[in-house]
Amino acid sequence: VLIDDGMAQEVGRGPSSGGKAPILVSIVDDARHVIGLDLGEGAFVGALVNLRGEVRRSIELPVDDRDGPGALDIVYRLVDELIEEAPGPLLGIGVGTPGVIDTRTGTIRWAVNLDWQDLPLGRLLGERYGVPVNVANDSQAAALAEYTFGGDASRRPNLVAIKVGRGIGAGVVLGGELFHGDGFGAGEIGHTVVEVDGAECMCGRFGCLETVASSRAILQRATELAREHPQSMLGARLGARGELRLQDVAASLNSGDENTRRIVVSAGRYLGQVVAGLIGVLDVERIVLHGSVAVLGEPWLEAVRDEAGRRSLGLLAKDVSIELAAPIGDLVVMGASALLLTAELGLAVGR
Ligand SMILES: [Zn+2]
Repeated sequence: VLIDDGMAQEVGRGPSSGGKAPILVSIVDDARHVIGLDLGEGAFVGALVNLRGEVRRSIELPVDDRDGPGALDIVYRLVDELIEEAPGPLLGIGVGTPGVIDTRTGTIRWAVNLDWQDLPLGRLLGERYGVPVNVANDSQAAALAEYTFGGDASRRPNLVAIKVGRGIGAGVVLGGELFHGDGFGAGEIGHTVVEVDGAECMCGRFGCLETVASSRAILQRATELAREHPQSMLGARLGARGELRLQDVAASLNSGDENTRRIVVSAGRYLGQVVAGLIGVLDVERIVLHGSVAVLGEPWLEAVRDEAGRRSLGLLAKDVSIELAAPIGDLVVMGASALLLTAELGLAVGR
């Protein structure tokens, strides 16, 4: 079927093991494209990905504070633009989105930050574009990509990949397979309460991990700090642009600003507290952090490591490595496309 469709071609005969020599085929990389979407940050990212899982073209559209139908419109705009640029037929759309996802139906049961509840995204995209759609949780898709493409260190069968951006979620790979949980919510650590009587979260509770450790929480604190100290680097950048980005926080941190360091370390420690829980439950030795907050680098990572280590059983913690993901690309886009390719063609991308 792949050959009839032009997606694979014969490249010769292999050595016979007794009978007729087998026909060797290779995948024609650019015969079809997949659209991969990452809906987990302040800007939605969409990419055209070929049959080998390589990103050919990538664009992003800012979401700003839009949610509900407004955020869904941005998804449509992103796909419209990518389809216009696709050099050939589209095989399907793979979506990585925050929230608890019923992957069988492609329905988003609840994505807190986007205010999507029971949104049948898979069906909506399928009807609009007439192609197969696979919808997965962004952190779970990213964990699969890190497991598949993440290099030698990831050859162990178990992995936890934690996405720390606008939201916070973990993807858990056990025995080489994504673990979804009984209700598809495995790894939804962002709304675990870490601060009693803390700030109100968009989910309705108070003091969730996302209220103290997400990109929004960090930027909010950095903005307060910038207002208190208008002559500081953060103050100057806020004055110049009217808002701060994580890159500004990273620059202030790297310049040695002690107040900025306190904000970053506090965010890292709260995350470490929840990571300790994962270590205790799963005893997984490889933990990888990614997402927009990872730009804060070593001081943030060190705070996560230290707090996770202090709060878990020493015997388990000593064998755990907590690292930043290698910059191999948008893990959510890669994972979402890989899931679509696997579902449609049975192709195992990567290893
Ligand atoms: Zn919450």
